[in-house]
Amino acid sequence: MVQGTANWSTEQNKEWLQEYVNDWVSFYRKHTDDGKVADYIPLLKEADPNLLGISIIGTDGMKIRSGDVSQSFTLQSISKVLSFIVACMTRGVTYILNRVDVEPTGEAFNSIMHLEMKGPKKPFNPFVNAGAITVTSMLEGNTSDEKMAPIYNLLEKMLGYRPVLNVDIYESERDSSMRNRAIGYYLLETGFLESDLNITLETYFKQCSINITVDDLARIGVILANDGEDPDTKTEIIPRQVARIVKALMLTCGMYDASGKFATYVGVPAKSGVSGGIIAVAPPRVREEELPFMSGCGIGVFGPALDERGNSIAGIRLLKHIASQWDLSVF
Ligand code: GLN
Repeated sequence: MVQGTANWSTEQNKEWLQEYVNDWVSFYRKHTDDGKVADYIPLLKEADPNLLGISIIGTDGMKIRSGDVSQSFTLQSISKVLSFIVACMTRGVTYILNRVDVEPTGEAFNSIMHLEMKGPKKPFNPFVNAGAITVTSMLEGNTSDEKMAPIYNLLEKMLGYRPVLNVDIYESERDSSMRNRAIGYYLLETGFLESDLNITLETYFKQCSINITVDDLARIGVILANDGEDPDTKTEIIPRQVARIVKALMLTCGMYDASGKFATYVGVPAKSGVSGGIIAVAPPRVREEELPFMSGCGIGVFGPALDERGNSIAGIRLLKHIASQWDLSVF
């Protein structure tokens, strides 16, 4: 669809882009039938599997949104991006990376097997559960609410409002997540946890249960696309070094054991969660022709029907389509 040297941010072109995105959302909504909502956290299975929404915000301020954009959902694993940013900002990047590695696992996000097979080495990366629980244990504070405070503060700075905890989802996960407790005990045994196990797990379940929307994800994404600086106010929210590491980790480890495929076929840093959210970050790119969102954008997607790896099935397909139409890839 995209040719020529059009300036895509004019009103007329924005309308065209909006129409294209509307068409793509209604097309990929049919693909939600190929997936299944997560049911291992009891309350998540109440989500409507046919929802699909997307929000795109450019560093130039252009916004396109389509589908079920007003639906809120919980961050789940997307929160691992935020806890990692906060931990790096408070403890320093070196401190955190000395305790959590930056290698993809090729295994499911909640796998225990690779922890045991490789012996008591540091957890593979901050975006699998073992690494994320370790990162959460490094957040400052003596209670889960104290540890959560800087995560809420960061979100408030980025979004302009303070998101809230979905208490029902939090309690549902807290009372059912035996797998995460097992990972926690393993980390306790191997000496990786830096806080009390119960407080760490409570914090981890809370960070996963923060309510968010696709607009919020797009807004966080555009700040990351802009190297941590808010494109509207030009103030630094996340240090550039931390934003750079986060994007590298999103590209290599953000979509669990589908990260290689996502990097190959979509080509932008992204992070998914089992509630069906995906945050994607398209940095500015240099091409001969003028393309939409050339100076970078953040994208938030929500589609709770998941593929077998726990990623939004229609969300990934929609992102793949947009990335190929607009040549969003970082490569
Ligand atoms: N809260 C979920 C869990 O730990 C998050 C997992 C995910 O989104 N992939 O199991």
